[in-house]
Amino acid sequence: MLQEIRLCFRHTGRISGREIIHFKPGYNVIVGPNGSGKSSLLQAIYKCRDCERKGHPKPVYHYFNGEIMNPHRAYKYFKGLRGTVIRTRALFSSHGETMRDVLRLYHPQKGDCFILDEPENGHDLEGVMKIRKGLNALVKTGCQVIVATHHPVFWSKAYFIEFQKGYLQSLTNKFRLFFK
Ligand SMILES: [Zn+2]
Repeated sequence: MLQEIRLCFRHTGRISGREIIHFKPGYNVIVGPNGSGKSSLLQAIYKCRDCERKGHPKPVYHYFNGEIMNPHRAYKYFKGLRGTVIRTRALFSSHGETMRDVLRLYHPQKGDCFILDEPENGHDLEGVMKIRKGLNALVKTGCQVIVATHHPVFWSKAYFIEFQKGYLQSLTNKFRLFFK
């Protein structure tokens, strides 16, 4: 489980001027406008050598973004039998379906940390809800999930990390107007 990250100089500059960001066990959602540094934070967590991560036990990180999930690139990231299944499926399916395969085929260990950058991309509403279910299942097995997203399906029961004060509230208000 990742508890906190102390950002290096480079990342502090990219991520809303923050230095330390805290996370909860379970389901974490990062919200903020485009360009506020959500993707940078996810990449910092996953691979920056200069950022300092605190977490016990030390988590294994699994990172997913649009590029990784691109069916034509999947072979680089998924090896072995699971990789073969995913690659084969990828030839015939949208990237959305590939994402769902990954969540289904991974056998996560307790304490693993799943990092997802806008998992809603390329999905219809049904697909988004399936992914959300997959993430709930991961959390139930004791994994941590950190997701950067614009999609309200991912907002419920979350610990929020807001990259702009009041951002979520203002979005929610705008969203309500559609249902009047
Ligand atoms: Zn860094």
